[in-house]
Amino acid sequence: MINLILFGPPGSGKGTQAANLVQRYNLVHISTGDLFRYEMGNNTPLGQQAKSYISRGELVPDAVTIGMLRNKVEAHPDASGFIFDGFPRTIPQAEALDHLMTEEGTAIHALIALQVADEEIIQRIKLRGATSGRTDDSDENIIRNRINVYNKETTPVFDYYAQQGKSHSVNGLGSVYEIFDRLCAMIDAVNAD
Ligand code: ADP
Repeated sequence: MINLILFGPPGSGKGTQAANLVQRYNLVHISTGDLFRYEMGNNTPLGQQAKSYISRGELVPDAVTIGMLRNKVEAHPDASGFIFDGFPRTIPQAEALDHLMTEEGTAIHALIALQVADEEIIQRIKLRGATSGRTDDSDENIIRNRINVYNKETTPVFDYYAQQGKSHSVNGLGSVYEIFDRLCAMIDAVNAD
């Protein structure tokens, strides 16, 4: 079993790469952003709760996010591994994830961060916003707020897993295929340990 965290700022390409990695490594992909968008699309109570935070570029409160994540993990008892995308985004989320993995008799094996500079991701998100219909992708102030939140609340998660010797970085600039090859090389190295 291999459990991975795909890490990186908004717009760094986590979703694109995760979609390819699940096929190569037979993993269950859990994207908290996708889960929230699904709930918002169906206008569920959870979706309504998340919407006010997401539309401002803020994080949804930990208790809500962690509960949703736990349900999703527990829905896949036979998974041969997970790839977490957009989670954990805070230290309490990382602690909750480690706790959950221990309960499941497993662990997080690696966190891999896609490195992309701020100005590049702003351009990418605006481009995505033109077609994604995501309101959080269309306003530069909201995008900048998401990046600020990432730098303040989420980057400590990299250090948290670095203390466990599990954090790695990959250059997130290049073609989708080049980046995929870098990620696979990193995962294969972790797997060989
Ligand atoms: P991106 O990586 O482009 O920001 P996501 O789809 O991962 O996009 O997330 C979109 C929004 O959903 C975030 O800006 C945040 O408001 C909310 N969200 C997603 N994951 C989490 C999380 N783990 N904790 C809190 N909020 C989250």
